[in-house]
Amino acid sequence: MVAAANPHAVEAGLEILRKGGSAVDAALAVQAVLGLVEPQSSGLGGGAFLLHYDAATGDVTAYDGREMAPAGATPALFLKDGQPEDFVEAVRSGRSVGVPGAVAVLMLAYQDRNHGRLGVAADFEPAMRLATEGFQVSQRMNAVIGMVASFGPLPPDAASYLTTDGTTPLPVGYVLKNPAYADTLRKISELGLAGFYRGPVAEAIVAAVHRGNDPGSLTLDDLGGYEARKLEPICEPYRVYLVCGMGPPSSGGLGVLNALGILSHFDMAKAGNSAEGWHLMIEAMRLAYADRDKYAADDRFVDVPTAGLLDGTYLKGRAALIQADKALPNAEAGMPPGAEKRASDETGGWTGTSHFVVVDNAGNVVSMTTTVEGPFGSGRMAAGFFLNNQLTDFSFMPTGPDGTPVANAVAAGKKPRSSMAPTIVFKDGRFRLAAGSPGGNAIIAYVLKTLVATLDWNMTPQDAVSLPNVVARGPVIIEQSFDPAIRAALERMGHQISDARAGEASGLHAIELDDSGHLVGGADPRREGQARAP
Ligand code: GLU
Repeated sequence: MVAAANPHAVEAGLEILRKGGSAVDAALAVQAVLGLVEPQSSGLGGGAFLLHYDAATGDVTAYDGREMAPAGATPALFLKDGQPEDFVEAVRSGRSVGVPGAVAVLMLAYQDRNHGRLGVAADFEPAMRLATEGFQVSQRMNAVIGMVASFGPLPPDAASYLTTDGTTPLPVGYVLKNPAYADTLRKISELGLAGFYRGPVAEAIVAAVHRGNDPGSLTLDDLGGYEARKLEPICEPYRVYLVCGMGPPSSGGLGVLNALGILSHFDMAKAGNSAEGWHLMIEAMRLAYADRDKYAADDRFVDVPTAGLLDGTYLKGRAALIQADKALPNAEAGMPPGAEKRASDETGGWTGTSHFVVVDNAGNVVSMTTTVEGPFGSGRMAAGFFLNNQLTDFSFMPTGPDGTPVANAVAAGKKPRSSMAPTIVFKDGRFRLAAGSPGGNAIIAYVLKTLVATLDWNMTPQDAVSLPNVVARGPVIIEQSFDPAIRAALERMGHQISDARAGEASGLHAIELDDSGHLVGGADPRREGQARAP
């Protein structure tokens, strides 16, 4: 089964599964197609985290393909006269572009223990075909072009690729061809990493970063030196389940597991989809976000108290802060074991991310969240794809107002803190559920809701992903479709509810293996995706 944000991508994944490809083979196909048909959300010029479950060995592996700051980056990367610069200006500069990691992480997962078996060329074939023959611009792609254009004139590459005349978004149904994209995929399938991180594609990336009057420092050496990493996932028990997620440099797994650790002290099944259930989820989320904003970052550069944030005694103490029917006036960060003094930060983000899940017939699972950061990334293009603006996920300010260091400050070779939370859940040692979402820092809220709804409230993956989103960082942001009676009850408990639309919509995709052994999928109705089996 494949659950992904675009029907072409789902079909490509299924085509590979029908040919006997593995979950990793299908992941290559899905990503290659998403980068073409949903370029606002991910692509070859972006980064990703891939969680893999190997059904034969029982191993769960986390692959880190997060973008990295070039050697020339400094803590002042996004400062102007000592103050944070304008966000859109930063995004569209060459300085926002991190060394892309999506291709490296796919190649690593493919080669590792022979997870991939069809051949990279075969896996990329559906995307090469679509790029050559053309695909119809979707409603969402058209709408996102319009949205980005409303922030000011489109960057030149984006204007020429995404509009008919420099300003008018490509209409829905327009047949868009991208032979340069097919060519890049061909180079990767022939030369492996060298087809992307060296030679003409790498040169085109460097040229695009240096184009115009606000270039970045990225070099061929930065590209040639990039390596995806194989890591241990972070896994914690939640009731009868084991939940595995992505550790640093993402805050996604930490945030989700921290909130679940708090919720494990309450009977969420009994509370159900009610004011009580949502109150508890909101409070756990607020506490988890407070810690996340302060402590999560790239742990190769700063000490991240990962074990402390998931420590049972610490989480019991956090849970004890929650009152049964009254909102905490302030949800502040705690002092988990091993933590250093930090200033909190959160840089706003946009939605340029996609999540997909693949389960193959041997039971192997890929849960992958993939991103160019904002819609169409930096708006700069090379060799048929958009370059990310992932470095704007760093804190623009390297210190807090009193000079306390910010964990997520920019540094050369560092990876910006992510919120991406590809998740895989096990029950009795057996695969149960895989899920994830785009949404910037709201990803943690979206994934948490999905896990509570499926694991505690017994909802199907589809009902769980469709359930209204509630994001509780600062004021509680509630989707309009949320039950008005529950909302009123939450307000009576003292929750400050904002009508501001969640800045970034979710794009949850999930697959569950239910008790009867059937795969059941869910695709977020807020996007264009599907969950389908071959
Ligand atoms: N750049 C964000 C992150 O890595 C994701 C943005 C999004 O979800 O659109 O956390």
